[in-house]
Amino acid sequence: MFLKFLKIILHTGVTVLLTVITQIGGLVYLLTLLFIKQNVTHFRLKRTAFFILLYCSATYLIVPPLASYLGREPIKESEVLKAHALFYTLANRNYVTPELNDVLNKSAKDFQQKYPGIELVYLDASFPFIDGFPLLPHLSHNDGKKVDISFIYQDNFGNMTNLKPALSGYGVYEAPTVSEYNQPDVCEKKGYWQYDFTKYASLSTINQELKISEVGTKALSLCILKNPAVSKMFIEPHLKKRMQLYDTKVRFHGCQAVRHDDHIHFQVK
Ligand SMILES: [Zn+2]
Repeated sequence: MFLKFLKIILHTGVTVLLTVITQIGGLVYLLTLLFIKQNVTHFRLKRTAFFILLYCSATYLIVPPLASYLGREPIKESEVLKAHALFYTLANRNYVTPELNDVLNKSAKDFQQKYPGIELVYLDASFPFIDGFPLLPHLSHNDGKKVDISFIYQDNFGNMTNLKPALSGYGVYEAPTVSEYNQPDVCEKKGYWQYDFTKYASLSTINQELKISEVGTKALSLCILKNPAVSKMFIEPHLKKRMQLYDTKVRFHGCQAVRHDDHIHFQVK
């Protein structure tokens, strides 16, 4: 009896976790439990294989056309527009409206004309289905109209590179210098403890020698901002000032959000 209760708790936990991370993973897990019963031989092995097969088929074959029919599509990757890691596409966190897809592709091409070989790299966008279903930890990424992108970085010699400093894409900050306005400090003093919570999200720092390319990041931001479909861009205030991004679309996101000196967020109307 106790063992059965424990199993229910475990299956519920896995279902919730997979749903939170990938949206469709929880459903695929439940289907796996339904189709591969515990009384078949090697049921654990069979369940694992069935889950992987069904999840990958759903993610790469079934979900894209279905989501597209319902109004969102996967970000169209190209030579100039890429996900930071396989995780973002594998976990279905790469869905946007056709309009945002268009802005991303145009901005990436535009930027490439100025800096050939340097890619626009995206992080979390939205899940494929259901308006209002948040892509945690970003509460607002729930309608296909928002996306996070990486800064452009430069190496020790000042050359722009496609390498990034955080394994996950988040959590390695370009913190304010002593002479710059320190928004993270202000938010933390007001009691918003979650403001720099993303420092736990980097997973690991790689390419430690990299520094933000202010020239490259500003140029990329301007390629995005000039598109009339773009309504807002969030970047930490000290970087906005440092890069002189004075477009009125560049706003402060508020202390209730997380700090934006490790990535840029932008959204369409
Ligand atoms: Zn965002």
